Amino acid sequence: MNSVKRNLRAVRLLFVSVLILTAGSVQTLLSGGVEASGLAQEGNKPFIVPFAGDPGPDTWLLIQPYGNTLFAYQFRRSVYYGGQGLHFGIDLAAACGTPILAIGDGVVESVDSWHGAGPHNLMIAHPNGYDSFYGHLLVRPRLRVGQVIEAGQVVALSGDPDLTCNSRPHLHLEIRDSATQAIAYNPLDLIEADWERIALSGSQPVEFVQELGEPHAWLGLFDQPETKFGHPLVNDFSKAWPYDW
Ligand SMILES: [Zn+2]
Repeated sequence: MNSVKRNLRAVRLLFVSVLILTAGSVQTLLSGGVEASGLAQEGNKPFIVPFAGDPGPDTWLLIQPYGNTLFAYQFRRSVYYGGQGLHFGIDLAAACGTPILAIGDGVVESVDSWHGAGPHNLMIAHPNGYDSFYGHLLVRPRLRVGQVIEAGQVVALSGDPDLTCNSRPHLHLEIRDSATQAIAYNPLDLIEADWERIALSGSQPVEFVQELGEPHAWLGLFDQPETKFGHPLVNDFSKAWPYDW
């Protein structure tokens, strides 16, 4: 009789432990899934990442963040001159033909506009006052201006600015103000994802340029100024590290 009782108690304990474990796993799965996919609608940031699935070497990676990057600094007098010497978007490496998702609900603003980032580009206007811009697209998106778009909808295919698909295939993604399109914002501030972790997944360290006279400014993924197009360079540093070319 006692042994039956003991067995019953053991079974009950086992059952409770399984319940606790299961609840824990579900919670881990849920939070892990939300973080990994960046599709946290309940987060403070209004947009989602433009690719399905987790970042990684076989899917997509952040290869150049927004702002005062080493690359933008080196080309501040040419490619990035109009954007105050800043990389005014983020570059996400992905194989040619990778489906690109709209980062939010909106309406098609332009297809293959003068905004560059060839060979093809797309701009979507969102009701929250931002425009998203997708550059280096593989083919002209089959969308018409004014077409209604839902967050997460496939709107384009990722391409390569060099048209080779084995040179530097990536998506250049910008977020601007809808009213004037004259200001670009740091997409990492507006897209829900674990950017600190994603930045560590790339093959190269994320590098920003340092003004030795003011060494703490603009060195972080999130500590970056807005871009006001057509305004003077903000990083025409006199004493920079790494050294200028
Ligand atoms: Zn770019």
